[in-house]
Amino acid sequence: MKAVILEETRRIAVRDVHDAEMRETTDVLLRVTSSAICGTDLHFYEGRMRGIEGGVIGHEPLGVVEEVGSAVTGLIKGDRVVVPTHICCGFCAMCVEGHSSECLTTNPGAAGAAYGYPNKGGYQGAQAELLRVPFADANCLKLPGEPGDDWEDDFVLLADAFTTGYHAAAIIDVGPGDYIKIGSHWEKITSNSAQGAEHTPRSWSVRTERGEYGMFGINRYAKAEDLE
Ligand SMILES: [Zn+2]
Ligand SMILES: [Zn+2]
Repeated sequence: MKAVILEETRRIAVRDVHDAEMRETTDVLLRVTSSAICGTDLHFYEGRMRGIEGGVIGHEPLGVVEEVGSAVTGLIKGDRVVVPTHICCGFCAMCVEGHSSECLTTNPGAAGAAYGYPNKGGYQGAQAELLRVPFADANCLKLPGEPGDDWEDDFVLLADAFTTGYHAAAIIDVGPGDYIKIGSHWEKITSNSAQGAEHTPRSWSVRTERGEYGMFGINRYAKAEDLE
């Protein structure tokens, strides 16, 4: 299969590698139709996170199930699915609590696993034609439509990009009517806040009725068009 390899810092190439294969009865093999590029890939590319050199990168796949393990109950060959970055088991204490990115099963001796990451269980990356998806019943979200349809570019964002931002907003329960601080300015979030992306602050914080929250390292913020 063809896959994207990080050969060394600042050198990426598409290479022929051994096909991804099924290993466990709980796996599916995914035929990847789209695979997003993440800001995290830049950490690897620019040498800020080491340990994946020589390996396949990528962790945001959308595709079609090609092969189904005998213990998988909720998927059949041909299902269109999106697969989250963090590989979970669905049954450990952390998964049951909803903290699936800190799964205790999929990266023994640590917490949390992911595709194409250093120190995240050694799972091959998703910028490849084929991907082994462990614990497939817990890791595949079934979607309607066909590969390459009008939803292809939207659905691939469900693997990480959209859902990570949404999850962060949901955790702190922030939404329209609340305020976000960009640099020294407070701005009210409106229903149009997803439009535009103009700011590059070094940090931001959020003020809601429930308190004020801070974050650092954010490199993009969607500015509201109609601030009050
Ligand atoms: Zn990502
Ligand atoms: Zn788990």
